[in-house]
Amino acid sequence: MKPINKYLIRKKNENSVLSMIIKKGLVSRADIAKELDLNKATISAIVQTLLERRLVCEEGIGDSNGGRKPIMLKFCETAGFSIGIDIRVDYISSVLTCLDGTIISKYNIDVDHITKKNILYYINKTIQYFHSSMPTTHYGIVGLGLGIHGTVEDNNIKFTPYYDLEKFPLANKLIKEINIPVYIENEANLSAIAEKNAGIDENNIICINVHSGVGAGLILNDNLFHGFNGSSGEIGHTIVLNGGKPCPCGNQGCLEQYVSELAILNLYKQKKDLQNLDFNQFKNDILIGEKVAIEILDEFIIYISIAINNLNNTFNPEKIIINSRFTNEIDGTIEKIKNHLHSTINNKVIITSSNLKGNSTAIGASLLSSEQFLFNGLIS
Ligand SMILES: [Zn+2]
Repeated sequence: MKPINKYLIRKKNENSVLSMIIKKGLVSRADIAKELDLNKATISAIVQTLLERRLVCEEGIGDSNGGRKPIMLKFCETAGFSIGIDIRVDYISSVLTCLDGTIISKYNIDVDHITKKNILYYINKTIQYFHSSMPTTHYGIVGLGLGIHGTVEDNNIKFTPYYDLEKFPLANKLIKEINIPVYIENEANLSAIAEKNAGIDENNIICINVHSGVGAGLILNDNLFHGFNGSSGEIGHTIVLNGGKPCPCGNQGCLEQYVSELAILNLYKQKKDLQNLDFNQFKNDILIGEKVAIEILDEFIIYISIAINNLNNTFNPEKIIINSRFTNEIDGTIEKIKNHLHSTINNKVIITSSNLKGNSTAIGASLLSSEQFLFNGLIS
């Protein structure tokens, strides 16, 4: 028989108690004991540890169930802060958050193009900014989460089609320089974590992110789904047109060659013979009824609808959240996408825009780092 690891049991129980206090908002020791089916002495000892670690505080008196009125417990989300950074091709978007993901401050940097030569400089600049402006807190910065637009396996960057960070040992280099834990994850996975944390009740959700590339974060049965080696949700490289446009992944006709911001803006530039173009100009042209811009947006709607139909019929999610400036900032796009979904098999799915918009990956990165700090990798 395998020996029972008392430390692991204690840690698991501690995580369960902390997790319950976070979920409930305000809860008494007796209620925790009842819900977790653990004895009151165990709960009291664990709560004492959490109070000493300043992760939990006592706040107010609850209602009596016959005996003495209980002292209520509350998660102390300001015990420390996390930093989350969304590393896009030409833009770094960062947040400093409390341990529950509440944003304390934001910091963004426009960049010509992210490379392995400049990435450490921009990350250090971001950390310095938050360090110099953040309020005092017990633990200070507990960790740094990084959202990568590409595939990530076990904190290592595997494939990045639009910047040269592939196989770059970013986490190891940063840990040596900044001396705080560093967690790296795919950007769409982080968005899914952030959307779920923002109050989505459904247990099966898919978050589709459309930026320079296209990816999906999948939460299935309440758990982030990574696949065999971290490449799940790479819907940008699902083929939507046989023999279509070539893609850096090696295939032809991949979805992101038809719906990514890069693809859409490049197509518009080419068709209108423009030297420069940014999203806002494209959006303005849509608003004034420019014919070519509208045709290109219609094509986006057709291809993204194909992707949604395929995801919907593969995973049967309860909710699909689209995070894209085409849907977030151009009114009516979501409705047009819904009108292209004709499947009678899985027609209960809710299609919606993201409320977190451009911040979702950075918030998710920060939450990932907080979660590791709070639960030490042992999520209950
Ligand atoms: Zn591809």
